[in-house]
Parts: sequence; structure tokens; C-alpha cells
Amino acid sequence: MKMCSEANRSAKTSAQDNYFPDVLESCKEICYNIENAKAKWRKSDEVIRAMAVTKTVAPEKINFAVAQGFTLLGENRVQEYLSKKDFYDKSAEVQFIGHLQTNKVKYIINDVTLIQSVDNLKLAQEINRLALKNNKVMDVLVEINIGDEATKSGVSADMAEELVRQAAELPGISVKGLMAIPPVGSGEDVFDKMHGIFLRVKEKSIPGVSMDILSMGMSGDYELAIKHGSTLVRIGTKLFGARKYLEG
Ligand SMILES: *Cc1c(COP(=O)(O)O)cnc(C)c1O
Repeated sequence: MKMCSEANRSAKTSAQDNYFPDVLESCKEICYNIENAKAKWRKSDEVIRAMAVTKTVAPEKINFAVAQGFTLLGENRVQEYLSKKDFYDKSAEVQFIGHLQTNKVKYIINDVTLIQSVDNLKLAQEINRLALKNNKVMDVLVEINIGDEATKSGVSADMAEELVRQAAELPGISVKGLMAIPPVGSGEDVFDKMHGIFLRVKEKSIPGVSMDILSMGMSGDYELAIKHGSTLVRIGTKLFGARKYLEG
């Protein structure tokens, strides 16, 4: 993985103010674990991306992770993102991963490369409208509520393919895959179920749908997620430490 080979850049930054030894350690450990999981369970030519999930984390710390090669950032909250984005290293790529209200799409449409959290048609239609208005096609993932939890967003597993098809018909949207946040402490069966849905939709070769990205796996379970087909793991706590305040 590219980020692993870049982890030695820290030697240069160690004399500066914004030096975070814990983050440096975590970067190396996560890289190592991802490489290991990949070697054990996946083909050598497959690409697995690691995202740094930034909620509650200060920009200096985020930029330090970017310098270690974690150049993909995941944002949860529009408001927080808007207050921090000007301070981000310009080499970072930003994707949106949090629950997104339809009326807030306008604030992120020109800054993020992918919206991972599309879970209803109204949201897809608003992304489509604003993408077309800005002369672009927005990449999205359809988020599935794989654990069927009342407190979580995401479309039900049964309705996922239908939403993929509806979103794919919108000219301002390109569906790139699926995303899930499995229940805390989920077993391998949940990742396996998600992988199964991903492969089934992929096999249908729906026009306008590429199914390249399966976004699943977080701090506590990213290796298991890789075992079960994840192509993008989203890491917060393990990279930056425990978050200081409650999540919205
Ligand atoms: C917070 C968050 C993560 C990261 O969770 P950790 O357990 O801290 O790694 C991943 N994905 C989403 C959608 C999140 O909101």
C-alpha cells in the first residue's frame, strides 16, 4: 500500500510543533494489519483503501495523518467539515460518510469526491439536481442498514438493489458501490451477508453502476471486513485516539 511506504516521512516532521507520535504509531500499525489481512485473504492485485475518519479531530492532527499517507478523509457532519476544510492539506481527498440531510447537499457537492451515505431516493434526486447544476457527475455509494437497526440510517437489505437502480437512472449520479455500518460487535456473518449483496448487485451489470467499492470495516473490525471483501475501511478511533465528545 502506498501509505505504508510513505510512513517514513515523519522523520522530517519530528522537530515541528505538529508532531503526533501516537498517530504515527497507529498509522504504521494499521498499515501493517491491512497488509497482513490482505496477504491472508485477498488477491495480491486487489486494492484496499484506508480512510481517516476525522470527526472531532483537529485539522493539525488530520494533516499529520495525511503526511503519513492517509490521504483519504471521511467526513460525518456538514457543519464540522465546513469549519475545518480550509485548514486541510490540499493533497487530501474528502468523501462524505455521515447521515446527509437533503438541504445540506449544496454545501458539499463541490468539495467531496464521493458521497457514501445515499439511503433514499429524495437524497439521490437532490444530489443529481445539484450535480447537473454544477456540470458534474457525483459518485455515490448506497448505504445499507445491514443490521436492521432502528437507530441507524441506511436502506434495508431488501430494498438496496431497487435504490441502486433508481439512483443509477439519474444522469448526475454514478453509483460506485455499497457502504454499511454493521452493529457493534457483529460477527463475520454480517460482513459476509453484505459481501453477498454486493456481489449479487455487481453480477447484474446494471447500466450506470460500477460496483467497485464495498465500504465496510472500522477500528474494531477492519481486518474481518477485509476478509469478507471490503475495499475501503474507515478508521477513526484506532488512528486518532478516543473521541472526546459524543457523536451526533
Ligand atoms: C465514526 C465513523 C467511523 C469510524 O469509527 P471508529 O470506530 O472510530 O473507527 C467509520 N464510519 C462512519 C460512518 C463513522 O461515522
